[in-house]
Amino acid sequence: AEAMNNFQAFLQQLTFKQDIVLQYLELPSPNKNELSLQEVADLEFDNRTAYNEDNTLAIYIYFADAPSDTDDPQEGTVTLGAVYRNTSMVIYETTVREIALKSSQVTIEDVETATLNHEFGHLLGLVDLGTPPVNAHEDPNAEHHCDVDGCLMRAEIEFGSGLLGAMNKRMLAGKGAVPGLDSECITDLQANGGR
Ligand SMILES: [Zn+2]
Ligand SMILES: [Zn+2]
Repeated sequence: AEAMNNFQAFLQQLTFKQDIVLQYLELPSPNKNELSLQEVADLEFDNRTAYNEDNTLAIYIYFADAPSDTDDPQEGTVTLGAVYRNTSMVIYETTVREIALKSSQVTIEDVETATLNHEFGHLLGLVDLGTPPVNAHEDPNAEHHCDVDGCLMRAEIEFGSGLLGAMNKRMLAGKGAVPGLDSECITDLQANGGR
């Protein structure tokens, strides 16, 4: 609930959508050891109830109880979340919890909030995923991710323990754990009708 409150505040801060309603829908577990994006999309097809209507935008967020099939625990590369359609995202909740529990400082809510906000940044088209950058700031090593130090749209926010490092650094500097958008990403958003 705390993460969803933070996510709602993030949307209100960055967009002109101020009237936001959350609907929770509990689903049975698909009982998988891992989930591909296609499987997540199939589950959405079976279960989604809300779609865009006139000026009302509907976002479907699936909190999965299995990790991404692209994870490689041996290499330490895991994925916390992903977007797969214009109004659809998945949060790999078991992975989020595992990562958060590795830190005594960072909370599950922090990791959930960072993942929700980061993935929504992708849905907003940031870093050339539909919203062309005003000034070049795409990471040459990570497509559609930002190269500005400390930005929410850095690739490490989405993958594995890079997130904990970034959060710990922020907390040591006396800031909140969850990064926000840097001024380049804000400029891009504003150029595309954001707040
Ligand atoms: Zn990302
Ligand atoms: Zn950025």
